[in-house]
Amino acid sequence: MNWMEKELELLAEDSLERFLRDSAPVPECPGYTVRGERLLLNLASNDYLGLAQHPAIIETMREMLLTEGGGSGASRLVTGNRPPYGRLEEALATWQNSEAALVFANGYMANSGVIRALMGRGDVVFSDQFNHASIVDGIVLSRAEHARYRHNDKDHLKLLMNKHRDKRRKLIVTDAIFSMDGDQARLRELVELKCEYGAMLMVDEAHSGGIYGERGEGLCYELGLHNEVDIHMGTFSKSFGVYGAYVCGSRNLIRWLINKARPLIYSTALPPSLVAGVSTALDLVKVDYWRRERLFSASRLFRSSLCEAGFNVINGDSPIVPVIIGENEKTLRFSHALEGEGIAAVAIRPPTVPEGTARIRFSLSAAHTDKELIDAAALIRKIGLQLGVLSA
Ligand SMILES: *Cc1c(COP(=O)(O)O)cnc(C)c1O
Repeated sequence: MNWMEKELELLAEDSLERFLRDSAPVPECPGYTVRGERLLLNLASNDYLGLAQHPAIIETMREMLLTEGGGSGASRLVTGNRPPYGRLEEALATWQNSEAALVFANGYMANSGVIRALMGRGDVVFSDQFNHASIVDGIVLSRAEHARYRHNDKDHLKLLMNKHRDKRRKLIVTDAIFSMDGDQARLRELVELKCEYGAMLMVDEAHSGGIYGERGEGLCYELGLHNEVDIHMGTFSKSFGVYGAYVCGSRNLIRWLINKARPLIYSTALPPSLVAGVSTALDLVKVDYWRRERLFSASRLFRSSLCEAGFNVINGDSPIVPVIIGENEKTLRFSHALEGEGIAAVAIRPPTVPEGTARIRFSLSAAHTDKELIDAAALIRKIGLQLGVLSA
């Protein structure tokens, strides 16, 4: 095991070592977190709609915990398929206007399991270079060829699709909103190419579910492309404020996944209390328009405040607002300085993002007020000037 210590030293030297740190929620202030003894404005969470502490969700989970107990005891294919699953899947299929839905334990298992279940040797998966790691791992597990196209680059994708014309099955897969840049996939272009080349299209709505669409259905819905997408995937861990993931699509797709998706087959079903809590979260996501409106107005305000402060902010309307710093060490110092000023924000470094593009990734919540965000932008500017990221 000597190699490990040496490798860890190298990581630390490059400011790339990661540490686990405690963060506690503040139930009465959902936009904050506590680290050590300090209350921090939480600009690092994916609880976009501010639902993680919602009393109705907690109450459902509590009641179900008392009747159904702690764990489900087995895989869904054995005896773990408790009634809350069917109820949630029916509601999900209706919400997404799909024939059927299937709940997975989490987004990582949904992506890795679905891609592996659909694809194999002799197939090809076209995947945006900035797609989530769980998609990449699914492709590796599937043993299909990984055709990685440049971010949102239709011409490059087309080139690769021509090259792989003769492959057996073809799948295009993309994040709807990219998790580290906060920008949108060009879904219309992907739909065109999917049709032209006879490929399947899978969209991961982890960062767009609950946020886009009249009832939070996601970006595909918002753009009117819902019916062109074969495999809809989303999570309950971000906007929903709970945990878990779903896949929606045709009845046959879901039948296939029940038979072939290994994370579903070979892993214990989620606790029934959790699944019931997700149903309550879905009810809230559908009807609480004001949370989406609040989130968009917070995102607009925060983006424009950072632009005015002199930062180069990637355009868009998503609640993910990255500020690219470049060097790992400086990015880490930026994040420590922010914490010193009462703001929790993460330094995102390679390999999560490309070398030389380390960044502070701010993420917003409907729970944040305008004043909190304006004050935060002023503090971010102050630190930017101190660290020489901004010039006066
Ligand atoms: C967070 C995320 C996932 C993983 O979801 P979990 O439920 O946290 O496992 C998958 N895809 C994308 C794009 C994500 O951002």
